[in-house]
Amino acid sequence: LAAQAAIAIENARLHELATVDAMTGLYLKHYFRARLVEEFKRAKVTGKPLSMIMSDIDFFKKVNDKFGHQGGDAALVGLARVIKDTVQGLGRDAMAGRYGGEEFCVLLPESGPERALEVAELIRTNIESTGIPVGDQEARITISVGCSSYPLHAQYITSEEDFIRLADEALYICKGRGRNCSSLYEEPTGPRPEIPSGR
Ligand code: GH3
Ligand code: MG
Ligand code: MG
Repeated sequence: LAAQAAIAIENARLHELATVDAMTGLYLKHYFRARLVEEFKRAKVTGKPLSMIMSDIDFFKKVNDKFGHQGGDAALVGLARVIKDTVQGLGRDAMAGRYGGEEFCVLLPESGPERALEVAELIRTNIESTGIPVGDQEARITISVGCSSYPLHAQYITSEEDFIRLADEALYICKGRGRNCSSLYEEPTGPRPEIPSGR
């Protein structure tokens, strides 16, 4: 029995290593994508909506410049904590991942565009109002958040890649609008706006 328990514990540890980002405790990109693939299949069969959120920290380079890269890492851990706590409060199906260095993503099964924007705003405002501890200092950080949603965006979405691309494009709409805001994907109507880099 003890040997079986030891194997189960080891398997759980290996599963965690393969799916969770060690620094932030959020799911890794490849696991998030695998879940998105599954949920997209399910949404098409059940006809229930599916949404995702992609966020990017505003002017994160300045945080690194001010606190150093280790300070930047500490800020990422603090931000991930806020996102994790917010998403855990939503119910058991929502999941948060670390998509890139300073990009986070959230999967929202059985959620339409209104709910996606509501959650995006909840995460954004929670981060805006929380001082993120960096050593003995506190960083004030904001994020821009893009959302894609099926079936709202069905005409653009044939795979999980499209889901992610649309959320990413929506995020750049926010950067163009001055950052620290949320948006659903919208088809571009003119040339892509110049986004000031803050440098
Ligand atoms: P923008 O508002 O346009 O997003 O400005 P930004 O400065 O955040 O620009 P961008 O998103 O292009 O750059 C992100 C920076 O985040 C670049 C990189 O040095 C830093 N970064 C990415 N991953 C990590 C990480 O794991 N740790 C730390 N400390 N910095 C990271
Ligand atoms: Mg980025
Ligand atoms: Mg950024």
